[in-house]
Amino acid sequence: MKEFAIRAAQPGFAAGEVFVADAAAEMPASARPEGKRTPEQELARYEQAADVLDRELASAAAGADRGSAEIYKTERLLLKDETYAESVRGLIREGGMDAAAAVETAGQRLARQLGDSENDYIRQRKDDVLGVTGRLLDILGGKTDAGPGKPAILVAEELSPARLSAMDPAMILGILTEQGAPTSHVAILAGNLGIPYAYGSHDAAEAARRSGRLILDGEKVITDPGEEQYREALDRMARERERKRREQRAQKEAAAQSAGTTRTAVFANIAGPRDIPALIASGAQGVGLFRSEFLFLDRDAAPTEEEQFEAYSGVARAMAGKETVIRTLDAGSDKKIAWLPQPAEKNPALGCRGLRLCFRERELFRTQLRALLRAAALGNVKIMLPMVASAWEVESVRALMAECAAELAAEGKAHAVPPLGIMVETPAAAMIADELAEKADFFSIGTNDLTQYTLALDREAQGLDDFYDPCHEAVFRLIERTAAAGHRKNISTSVCGELAADPRAIGRLISCGVDRLSVSLPKIGETRLRVKEAEEQQAPAKEQAPAKEIKEAAAAAEPDTPPRELEEPPRSVSIAAPADGKLIPMEEIPDPVFSSGTMGTCIGIMPENGTIHAPCDGVVSGIAPTGHAMTFTASDGKEILVHVGIDTVQLGGRGFRIFVREGSAVARDDVVMEADLDVIRGAGLSPIVIVAC
Ligand code: PEP
Ligand code: MG
Repeated sequence: MKEFAIRAAQPGFAAGEVFVADAAAEMPASARPEGKRTPEQELARYEQAADVLDRELASAAAGADRGSAEIYKTERLLLKDETYAESVRGLIREGGMDAAAAVETAGQRLARQLGDSENDYIRQRKDDVLGVTGRLLDILGGKTDAGPGKPAILVAEELSPARLSAMDPAMILGILTEQGAPTSHVAILAGNLGIPYAYGSHDAAEAARRSGRLILDGEKVITDPGEEQYREALDRMARERERKRREQRAQKEAAAQSAGTTRTAVFANIAGPRDIPALIASGAQGVGLFRSEFLFLDRDAAPTEEEQFEAYSGVARAMAGKETVIRTLDAGSDKKIAWLPQPAEKNPALGCRGLRLCFRERELFRTQLRALLRAAALGNVKIMLPMVASAWEVESVRALMAECAAELAAEGKAHAVPPLGIMVETPAAAMIADELAEKADFFSIGTNDLTQYTLALDREAQGLDDFYDPCHEAVFRLIERTAAAGHRKNISTSVCGELAADPRAIGRLISCGVDRLSVSLPKIGETRLRVKEAEEQQAPAKEQAPAKEIKEAAAAAEPDTPPRELEEPPRSVSIAAPADGKLIPMEEIPDPVFSSGTMGTCIGIMPENGTIHAPCDGVVSGIAPTGHAMTFTASDGKEILVHVGIDTVQLGGRGFRIFVREGSAVARDDVVMEADLDVIRGAGLSPIVIVAC
């Protein structure tokens, strides 16, 4: 047993096997050309590697909280930076280098230049450059699955967000690096993911690499632990992880206590199917704003009708009958779509954006409406139009929807014409809300834009923050006017801009008559509690007011859990066996990661055949890059892991056929994977299927 003092960037306790995540000391042998390739082939290899990394970063950002997503975004920007990319291409074309040598040379050069800068911010970008370069070299060397296939502690000289983005966070128990800083990007990411992270000792990392097993304990690192000490550490980690899970659950339940008990519902704002696991876990009463433009960004062409149908219906199915409001494409101005040509405009915020752009790109819009109508046949979907200013716009869309419905009927495709609502985000819409309430089925106030247009202040203007005041009296009066018009015509009014989660505004929004707040996922719990407080304070005044007869709100309220059920004790989760076969008790599973409880409560199944089923109704929230394991988020928010075989990560994907994707909605017993038991056994491995939750 050896003990080292260390600095803790994210204090915590972890014990497990070591996964060495060092960058190759020199260019990986596999990144070097085997035979001579032409410059065109080398260029293509570089572009492909950049593409893979871009997708890794995008996928990590999509599943991350806002702070972490920003970090991944910075690395993507760097990867796409033309100076960097051109320098690599130049070294290949004119310098005769192969792709890996060019990436390394260009990266080192740029890192040196940045490192020499006097500006702190620019100097810090050096680490991003080195991180991106290192990961590109991994990919060029064929190292596409950069992380551990089973839970382990990462040990590295240093780590970058780019390298971390390729790993499954669920497999990282802790991190130990030689270099590091308490405020580095990796420290922030580890903190956001709740992963203990220590740094600062070359000797500790070296010993850990040799030892193969490691205990991280705040500012202490233990390598070469004795058998008993290691087992106790695994037990302690399992207990601590369980305690943390309980605490998180308790917090969520505290916020959930108010769900359904308040008159003002709290819905979620989401960006796409990637948000489904967090959406379910949040216990949101519905989706109040699905910003569909995220499906159109970061690609070279529009998503097809099928792709859109899958995304919309996936979310609607995951919401299991709860309302899902999907906003049609809101592009232009601050949301540019690279592949969609847009006119050069002096004032893009006052130009061809939102619904106006959809009217111009009619085919694109029709495709989206067709996908939405088809999704509406499968769930409680509602369509919402952005940037409406006049009643004729709503009428035009209704006519277009009718055309799409007729087309779909002629093609024999299942569809439904769902309710059509509008965003109220122009002062014009708020002023003629009475007229619009005749045409629309619901209102949702986009306070981000409503503030911009009411105060004549670009929402992205720099240095004018003091003037951009969403709590301006003018904004509240427009909100009040809109909600009152909605009530007169029996339609509901939501607020889905940032103001909906602003603690300064929630009480006022409720007294303005707003029926629902739709907020980003991390803000749901807190918003619920504030709504409850505000309603309690306003209760006497509200009781005197005439009962609201809101057709939309009533319909939306139905699928919510009635308060009576909230008082019932929590029920135990029922999980369907993902495979047919004989059960094996947790303590007999021949892998301490599972038998010690590190991964939660487990059960093993010795499978009779290789067909693997979904253990619950819910969503596929993660698939290991090597296909041997999947996580599911059940409809009640519970995370369930299905892991096929012991140490089957070694097979590198051989023997596993996956029938679902991350974000796919599944029903209990759906077939999700076919594992070839002969391949597993042939490699000398055990095919035991483990379920953990
Ligand atoms: C708004 O404008 O308040 C809104 C919710 O839409 P977005 O921020 O996407 O423009
Ligand atoms: Mg808007």
